[in-house]
Amino acid sequence: MRYVDLASKTTIGELRVKLSVYGKGGIGKSTTSCNISVALARRGKKVLQIGCDPKHDSTFTLTGYLIPTIIDTLQEKSFHYEDIWPEDVIHEGYGGVHCVEAGGPPAGAGCGGYVVGETVKLLRELNAFDEYDVILFDVLGDVVCGGFAAPLNYSDYCLIVTDNGFDALFAANRIAASVREKARTHPLRLAGLIGNRTSKRDLIDKYVESVPMPVLEVLPLIEDIRVSRVKGKTMFELAEDDPALEPVCDFYMNIADQILAMPEGVVPQDAPDRELFNLLSDF
Ligand code: ADP
Ligand code: MG
Repeated sequence: MRYVDLASKTTIGELRVKLSVYGKGGIGKSTTSCNISVALARRGKKVLQIGCDPKHDSTFTLTGYLIPTIIDTLQEKSFHYEDIWPEDVIHEGYGGVHCVEAGGPPAGAGCGGYVVGETVKLLRELNAFDEYDVILFDVLGDVVCGGFAAPLNYSDYCLIVTDNGFDALFAANRIAASVREKARTHPLRLAGLIGNRTSKRDLIDKYVESVPMPVLEVLPLIEDIRVSRVKGKTMFELAEDDPALEPVCDFYMNIADQILAMPEGVVPQDAPDRELFNLLSDF
């Protein structure tokens, strides 16, 4: 029934989809998110990427600079929402992708959930949400509390970035558990895993055999991707001057096309921690 709700939005030309990208810290969520956002924009979609990590560097690869955060802007205006204009908080990045950074909670006064809540509230006040075909939340590392799981409340799909190692897959399993929980009350599905920075996928395959879910793509460790992040440019921008990088962009185009096909996805049945330990540490 939930899937029918989701599918009803797929009318060509008026697709609206909200994505949340999760995964272990440092696994490549922001790099991958920025490139997926550009790939979606290349398919003609109006895209908003919302960085929900207090590190506020999610959209750096799109804009080339650290944009002011929602929380900083709200504090500057003493939380007078009516004094804030879209251009104060929404910045245009490469490929026409619009960028927002939620920022961190004020010191000792709040949590990630509060920040995400304020961000969504402000963007609603600005009538910003209706303008986009795709909204992508790039969220902090593991789901450490209900607060950082908040973007799942607004999402149609969760995407999990992982490598082929135990730690990232362990984190992925915990995120899968959050999706399972949220899917009880929200029309949320797990679109699948994105393998990143790995040429091997044996543990990823073992995991999805035990906890069935799609693997959307597996990207190897590519030095140009690492460098692109430091340069504050997506692979698409770098490929303009170096066509040899186009095959790397194809990885991201492939992920974007799968999302735009509105896949069924899954409500995952995460593995118990001990079972996962046995499964993935079986040398
Ligand atoms: P996260 O948002 O999950 O914390 P980042 O996107 O900031 O992670 O990525 C962490 C680092 O890994 C960055 O320096 C980035 O350039 C690098 N990186 C991400 N994906 C790849 C890849 N496929 N190959 C090489 N380096 C990568
Ligand atoms: Mg990040």
